[in-house]
Amino acid sequence: MNADIDVVVVGSLNLDLVVRAPRQPGGGETISGSDYSEYAGGKGLNQAVAAARSGASVVLAGNVGDDEAGRRLRSIVRSEGIDDTHLRTLDDVATGRAIITVDDAGENSIIIVAGANGGPAPTDLPTGRVVLAQLETTIEGVVAAFEQARSVGSITVLNPAPAVALTDELLALCDVLVPNEHEVDLLGGRDRVAERVGHLVVTLGASGADHVRAGVTTHVDPFAVDVVDTTGAGDAFCGALASRLAVGSSMDSALRYAAAAGALATTVPGAVPSQPHASDVRALVES
Ligand code: ADP
Repeated sequence: MNADIDVVVVGSLNLDLVVRAPRQPGGGETISGSDYSEYAGGKGLNQAVAAARSGASVVLAGNVGDDEAGRRLRSIVRSEGIDDTHLRTLDDVATGRAIITVDDAGENSIIIVAGANGGPAPTDLPTGRVVLAQLETTIEGVVAAFEQARSVGSITVLNPAPAVALTDELLALCDVLVPNEHEVDLLGGRDRVAERVGHLVVTLGASGADHVRAGVTTHVDPFAVDVVDTTGAGDAFCGALASRLAVGSSMDSALRYAAAAGALATTVPGAVPSQPHASDVRALVES
């Protein structure tokens, strides 16, 4: 294992195209929106930024297209101090996009075009103390990364989002699995999952999280904050958790830190912009 690398993130990068509209349009309908913004996003990039801002040395392994969006995302990766040597530029496919409509009721509807994120899994992946993955890139790539991690004794952390059914083979490779309530239901429920992974951490939004280990459930209390936009809270939680596990924190203390990071992410709009820095997370933990 390369002990100089705290967290290797295997995951997606998207350009998020966000439109505000009074309501979601119906089939065949055209309506006027009020605002348009572009943000860096994708669960891999969000979680890599969360881990880096928590003070971890981070490598992000993934794919972008050879286009303006891909160049913008790479420059954001570098500006966060994240190692981009395993971020490949693919010739024949566009950078991933998420088309997001936010209506006046605060409801989101999202269409994701995977583009380069659906490209080949990273090769020659470096090893680190923790390997962190999600499911916006290919499952074969996650399995290969976790098998390599197991062979060198790294800690594997999987955020199974967006939710799809997972094989027992992949679950058995997870030291820590971090689904939300919806995702854990789709995986067959807490009991099925908890039997197959080392630690199950179910995030519960404003209610905090539950940690299930060897049949015992411990609640992680939420931190009270003024919520502006919950986008990116789950990513903040996962990236922060990985960064603390990489430096040898106990699971209880890492979960408390992650819950504070998730809470802080809800106080700022956007996904990448809302990822909190270590000093703010520590201040909330100690408050
Ligand atoms: P996801 O976005 O993946 O569904 P959650 O909404 O469960 O994830 O949020 C992840 C974590 O962030 C929660 O476990 C919690 O610790 C924190 N969090 C999320 N929303 C809030 C909130 N409204 N108040 C306080 N903490 C929150």
